Amino acid sequence: MQYQESAASSAELLRLVLQRIAAHGGAYTPTTYAVWYEYLAGVNPKLVAALDQRLQSAEPLAQAEIDQLYTQHIHSREVGSVEAFQAGLSELLRRLSEAAATSGAGAAEYSKSLVACQRELAATTDPAVLNRVIQSLVKSTDAVRSTNETLQKEVLATRDEVQQLRGQMGALQNQAHTDPLTRLRNRRGFEQAVAEITRGRKQYLAGCAVLMADIDHFKRVNDKYGHLVGDQVIRAAAQVLQNNVKGRDVAARWGGEEFIVLLPDTAGEGAAALAENLRAAFCKTRIKRGAKQEMSEPVTISIGVAEAVAGESLEQAVGRADTALYQAKNSGRNCVRLADGAGATAAAAAAAAGELQGAAGAN
Ligand code: GH3
Ligand code: MG
Ligand code: MG
Repeated sequence: MQYQESAASSAELLRLVLQRIAAHGGAYTPTTYAVWYEYLAGVNPKLVAALDQRLQSAEPLAQAEIDQLYTQHIHSREVGSVEAFQAGLSELLRRLSEAAATSGAGAAEYSKSLVACQRELAATTDPAVLNRVIQSLVKSTDAVRSTNETLQKEVLATRDEVQQLRGQMGALQNQAHTDPLTRLRNRRGFEQAVAEITRGRKQYLAGCAVLMADIDHFKRVNDKYGHLVGDQVIRAAAQVLQNNVKGRDVAARWGGEEFIVLLPDTAGEGAAALAENLRAAFCKTRIKRGAKQEMSEPVTISIGVAEAVAGESLEQAVGRADTALYQAKNSGRNCVRLADGAGATAAAAAAAAGELQGAAGAN
């Protein structure tokens, strides 16, 4: 698995993981770390369910149990699907090459027996010999037909398997591009979608808008209601995004409680209006904790928007959306901020640099 958390949220997770290891025991090994990391990051729902169930008992966690959780829910996931795919592919190749070798050998035998038959036919007019030649011809023709039939069957059977393997490969690819908690694209999936959208576009991202959204005071939600409710809040935010984007728009979980949306061919103002709808819709969402109880206060989201300009990379456009998000946080959160155009930002930076240089020169 590729972990998607940013430096900041992984640092926060590091703190939480260490707390958990200290509280529940276990050696400070990569295995123990991986178990708690995936549990707290909420990226492995099966592990979360298994560990939650185990934590209902007051018994301290034994290292063996942690190792087992790792083997069952982390290691097996890493190797299981890929190994199954490789084994399928290798079996398929073995059978095909065996069938091809058999048919090749059969065909060679057949042509040898045809040559022998021809030679015998040329040398005799004896009906008994002719009869034997015909018998041997029928026999070798039968043999080659049956190997060809075997080959044909094998090819037909492997065709189905090839389809299955293709499906498995697609599923593996999907899995690698999907965030398990929200089912949205993950960062890799987002980058792949952007690559597809921009393929063949002369101006790359120019005229597309990027939204960066970040749940406000999310740490408080985790601290007050626990990680499982935190995960529900993340899912709710993903749902709001999913419900409000359409067509070629691409929504993804960027990491932790951060989301990104690419709006192809959308000007900054239009994107900011959509962001405002997202913000308002999320603010109205009531998250249930437990059976029916709602959270006592609404959770909000801040959004930064940037319209990409010609010559700008995805990283640069995301950087400007992120700066706008930072401004939204600084303006009291639960709001949307539109980034200055890249040109304006560059001009401002150049002007600031000029001022600095001027000041340095004056000194
Ligand atoms: P701000 O308004 O400035 O964004 O504050 P914040 O508390 O939302 O931001 P901060 O970056 O301090 O905290 C984000 C927290 O999100 C830290 C991390 O433990 C938590 N987190 C990251 N990923 C997940 C997850 O998948 N599930 C849960 N429940 N929590 C997560
Ligand atoms: Mg954040
Ligand atoms: Mg946040």
